[in-house]
Amino acid sequence: MTTALKLVIDLTQKLVRFPSVSHQSNEAVSQCVADELARIGFDVEWLSYLDEQGVRKVSLIGKRGNGAGGVAYLAHTDVVPAEDWSVDFCGAFEPVEKDGRLYGRGTCDMKGSLASALIAASLVPPEKSNPLYFVVTSDEEVGMLGAKKVNGKSRYFQEMVENNTVGIVGEPTQLSVVHAHKGGQRFHVSAKGVSAHTSTTEGRNANYSLIPALPAILSLRNDSETNPAYQNQMFDPPTLSWNMTITNEPDAVNVTPSLARLNSFLRTMPNVDVEPLLSQVEAVCRTYGLEFYRKESVDPWSVAPNAPWIQSMLRIVGQARSQSVCYATDAAVLQRLESIMICGPGDIQQAHRSDEWISLEQLSRGVEVYQKAFTHSFDR
Ligand SMILES: [Zn+2]
Repeated sequence: MTTALKLVIDLTQKLVRFPSVSHQSNEAVSQCVADELARIGFDVEWLSYLDEQGVRKVSLIGKRGNGAGGVAYLAHTDVVPAEDWSVDFCGAFEPVEKDGRLYGRGTCDMKGSLASALIAASLVPPEKSNPLYFVVTSDEEVGMLGAKKVNGKSRYFQEMVENNTVGIVGEPTQLSVVHAHKGGQRFHVSAKGVSAHTSTTEGRNANYSLIPALPAILSLRNDSETNPAYQNQMFDPPTLSWNMTITNEPDAVNVTPSLARLNSFLRTMPNVDVEPLLSQVEAVCRTYGLEFYRKESVDPWSVAPNAPWIQSMLRIVGQARSQSVCYATDAAVLQRLESIMICGPGDIQQAHRSDEWISLEQLSRGVEVYQKAFTHSFDR
């Protein structure tokens, strides 16, 4: 085992041992990252806020070296919950190396990537990267609040925007270069009723108001899957992947539900306008006397596949073509940074799983790729 691999395994394990599930504070893991950055010569800007639940969250931006432009590596420290963790030889936050893999919540998404970038930065002589930035956010998995703070408040991020720094979002792509991702739009359709014990004649079942509208909404959904206006062939699948769930409150079969809600999620794409579709859903809601409301959205993101920084990164990783992916990242929020791409170790298939892992091969290649990228003079 090489020294670099040993170092990256140790650092990933150290980061994973801080649980930092999105509903918890990520202050301790951020302090650990900040200490690591300071140790290898970075100045650290610390952006701290209380989330809606009053929990302390931290995003940080590190800078090393002088000059303008340079390269930035972007990651997040929050992880998805691990109640369903299914690995019997280790706990979610007690990472274990086994058979060429490192298991634990966040090993793949994305503390392993962050560790490999930190080790790469420690191996690059500071004068060879001018400047090098690290942007490490909070709440990426739950609405990208941390990235929003960085976009609005960070002095270093503003500097990166002004000087056209080349950004590498280190989300797991198996070190393929990604030039586009889908966004997301949530919306709800809801019907109200009156709750009562079903043994009585009191109450009004909210489902009986929602159900008549469902065929019309389902037909809009099915049309949207085949209508070219709602497709972008850059993606696989090229469609909005409109998904629906239905919620009842209360949800007990001997109680009349007072609320029936259809929850929808569209995976939005560049150059696809979903407004006509949303207007059609709203029209159905008016016809059936239902409430329509939009929830938060995340913008899709894309840059030209032939952009010079994409082409340079393809040469660094030794691949011919960049790709698009169907999940969103902090790049959606940080679009003021124009020269940006996604490229990180680990396979997205292994993220968010009850047995999350990253291969040691990916960790070690991550260090090599980032070392090259951090010393590269990218064209914009
Ligand atoms: Zn992630």
